[in-house]
Amino acid sequence: MANSHKAEISATIDSAISAANRRQRRFLSSLMSWAPGNTRIYPWRESGRTAYELMIAELLLKRTTAAAVARLYEPFLKEYPSATHLAMATESQLAHNLTPIGLQTQRAKAIADLARHLIESNSGNVPCSPQSLSNLPGLGEYSARAILSFGCGIPAAIVDANVTRVLHRVFWALLPPRPAHSLVQFIADTLLPYDSHREYNFALLDLAAMVCRYIEPRHENCPFKLICDFYQSHGDRQPVSRLQTRLRAIRRKRKIGLVELASNAGVSKLTIINIEAGRTSPRLETLRKLATALEISEEQLKD
Ligand code: SF4
Repeated sequence: MANSHKAEISATIDSAISAANRRQRRFLSSLMSWAPGNTRIYPWRESGRTAYELMIAELLLKRTTAAAVARLYEPFLKEYPSATHLAMATESQLAHNLTPIGLQTQRAKAIADLARHLIESNSGNVPCSPQSLSNLPGLGEYSARAILSFGCGIPAAIVDANVTRVLHRVFWALLPPRPAHSLVQFIADTLLPYDSHREYNFALLDLAAMVCRYIEPRHENCPFKLICDFYQSHGDRQPVSRLQTRLRAIRRKRKIGLVELASNAGVSKLTIINIEAGRTSPRLETLRKLATALEISEEQLKD
């Protein structure tokens, strides 16, 4: 990486962090006054949940809805109250218990692998340290941080795609169009209140999912209206991604129908409809297929 580029990144991080420091108090008070009555209630959010119980919630919540997991959570914990109980079960028993939320074979294998790892490495206990949690198979940084904050009581800022979107919009004037995860995590770490990290994380996750939505954000219901760069500069205009407008424009200019593009690119018609409607951001692999089918470079589609 050229030195000038490194210096540019470092300057962006410095200015974003100092802006986060300056706005921390207002960000926090706005969010915490919005939280009562607005945050969602799930069984894994009850106070006193252990790191093991949070780990199970994180594993179950991957690639399914919270409503589906909420129905299964308590019976699953009753059947498997510890990693030892999980390790004693066969994968087919686990898969049977996991059938209501789907992907049961993959989930059963992941849970059994993790349980065996915990037995061998930590006497079946879920470790409450960032490094050890990140090293557990089947969990990622997001889940590790959720377990730390909600199950271990250790301050950790949780950043998923929705939280990234909120922070990107609130600090819109300072951040590049596609901020690196590490940069967003720096800002999230700076904003995190250590004494109320749990309630703060719940509130930010919920506000991101319900108010600052990908399309049609509900600015009028948002406590960040007065400190949000995006709202201050765009008002009620919808955030439209460049990919969304580029794809639609290229397709129309070349008179390529949805069915034809879907067939040539090997992606579903629904995927293209969702991209053009701004309902989803495609994975790189999908972007490549679309670019190849349109005979343009990936950059042309993105920029
Ligand atoms: S004011 Fe609008 S864009 Fe800004 S954080 Fe709130 S909902 Fe999102």
